[in-house]
Amino acid sequence: MGTLTATPASRISGGSFLIEQRAPSEVFTPEDFTEQHLLIAQTAEEFANKEIVPNMEKMEHKEFAVTRELLRKAGELGLSGVDVPEQYGGMQLDKITSALIADRIAKYASFSTAWGAHTCIGTLPIVYFGTEEQKKKYLPGLASGVTVGAYALSESSSGSDALNCRTRATLSTDRKHYLLNGEKMWITNAGFADLFIVFAKVEGERFTAFIVERNFPGFATGAEEHKMGIRGSSTCPLILNDCKVPVENVLGEIGKGHHIAFNVLNVGRIKLGAGCVGAARNSLESATAYAKQRKAFGKVIADFGLVREKLATMAAGIFTGEAMAYRTVGMMDAAIAQIGDSHSDMSQVRKAIDEYAIECSILKVWGSEFIDDVVDETVQIYGGYGFVEEYPAERAYRDARINRIFEGTNEINRLVISGFLLKRAMSGQLPLMAAIKKLMDEVISGTKDEGEEGPLAEERRLVAAAKKIGLFAAGVATQKYMQSIQDQQEILGAIANMVIETYAIESAVLRAQKLAASKGEAGAAYAIAMARVYITGAMERIESAARMVIAAASEGDMLRSQMAILRRLSKYEPFNTIALREKIAQRVIETGKYQTA
Ligand SMILES: Cc1cc2nc3c(=O)[nH]c(=O)nc-3n(C[C@H](O)[C@H](O)[C@H](O)COP(=O)(O)OP(=O)(O)OC[C@H]3O[C@@H](n4cnc5c(N)ncnc54)[C@H](O)[C@@H]3O)c2cc1C
Repeated sequence: MGTLTATPASRISGGSFLIEQRAPSEVFTPEDFTEQHLLIAQTAEEFANKEIVPNMEKMEHKEFAVTRELLRKAGELGLSGVDVPEQYGGMQLDKITSALIADRIAKYASFSTAWGAHTCIGTLPIVYFGTEEQKKKYLPGLASGVTVGAYALSESSSGSDALNCRTRATLSTDRKHYLLNGEKMWITNAGFADLFIVFAKVEGERFTAFIVERNFPGFATGAEEHKMGIRGSSTCPLILNDCKVPVENVLGEIGKGHHIAFNVLNVGRIKLGAGCVGAARNSLESATAYAKQRKAFGKVIADFGLVREKLATMAAGIFTGEAMAYRTVGMMDAAIAQIGDSHSDMSQVRKAIDEYAIECSILKVWGSEFIDDVVDETVQIYGGYGFVEEYPAERAYRDARINRIFEGTNEINRLVISGFLLKRAMSGQLPLMAAIKKLMDEVISGTKDEGEEGPLAEERRLVAAAKKIGLFAAGVATQKYMQSIQDQQEILGAIANMVIETYAIESAVLRAQKLAASKGEAGAAYAIAMARVYITGAMERIESAARMVIAAASEGDMLRSQMAILRRLSKYEPFNTIALREKIAQRVIETGKYQTA
């Protein structure tokens, strides 16, 4: 692996943030980017501004030759081979760099989608699961962008339920080929990609991945879908009619395709989350620029408090999203670094990535819902102009919506978050049950908190309270439902929401703390303000989710006493968010963009 990581945190278990306390020095934040990180970020941003943005209209009208050419240029600049080992033509840099490129390249969602599908789900299956021959044959072309990749898992009757696919693979009588028959649906890049990772069931049973070249006999693509958004990306079905795939193009083991399908989605989810944060930064800039020149009632609308609070809320979300995204990839890099010289052993790298499946799903859900709020408020700031095609807010609004659907819908990702936590708790990998029991004993005996001291003490106390509220509500629900909690989707969804918000506020507070430690509280004033604004909304959401779970699990006197405990846990003196937002908005409007200082 390249040597970009600044100071990797020591290895931390996935999901452990719920029961362990973290110090700022244990998390990677954007303030820890190395010079090389920043150089690559600048390359990605310049590429986006000079190459992608001027070509947006052509791509929006499906001039896919332009998209292909830009994918090649991105490859030439080293932006596409970050996750590919050097011996196969890649750069093999850290996951921080991977996320950073996804973040800074995100100036036009259709291109980001094409680039994301190509570099991530279209390439990583070969990086992580390919044989030496497959890697030598395919990775140099993919890393350079000369070959374009795609990933074909979904079918018309199985999207979320992907393992239930109908596409079959049958061994030919001479045992040299598999014949693939079936139809894949909604495949990104399908209109122009050269290489497809296709999932099919061998003899109708064993779910397996195949590397399929476009020119294999029996391979065809259907017509482009007419979509609500990301219209500049290609989305078509694949039609496989006795498609002849050489046996050496089986990827990984027969019957183990699900490992491939799900492992690469983890990296896809991180990049999607980081891309959403990047897109939010662009929307904030666009909304701010508009608000500074649009006049109403004799003033620019940027002077109105109700507009300013929207800009400030966006900035607070960006601060939080960056904190979550880079904290997560920082943990991954630390885990990968610990593999040492054997990092070429891809099974170890895969394990290190899988460790953070919960955090990857958190980022996917959080990022995709955050960007939807941002583009929605951007349309609002643009007013009537936000609703018409000539202005950028309309396209951004439509383009953002897909993020909640692909890379696993947000419902599926919420179930992944609570499902993985339960699984880890049951297997003893994560001592969640012990933590719940300890908390239950504490609340019953009325043990008082020791309290926090030092900088950002109240914020840290709120992070601790959020964890307790989540554990308490989860404890009440598991006591009531025991094993059958797995069938209580609404409760699992509410638990996932508390987990997501807890990770978000802890990440924001740790980042603000780290900034305060290096710059002093005055130097970190904007960061602290953004963390406080985010925390305030998140605490309300956490409390509301906990109330819903407790009310579903208890009744009568028990419900009343549990609600009293919840009220005690969630008691805090509110921050003056009107003043905090005003301070943040002032800075955003002054500079025209999101700032931490
Ligand atoms: C523009 C675009 C690009 C895409 N690109 C690709 C690609 O490159 N490769 C690829 O393989 N696929 C791709 N997809 C497919 C995408 O991944 C699926 O659409 C997605 O996984 C959802 O599957 P589905 O559409 O079948 O919805 P369904 O699975 O039918 O889901 C419908 C609704 O039911 C909910 N639901 C389903 N199951 C559950 C459950 N167990 N519990 C609770 N709720 C549930 C879902 O969350 C959703 O809200 C793309 C789709 C689009 C629109």
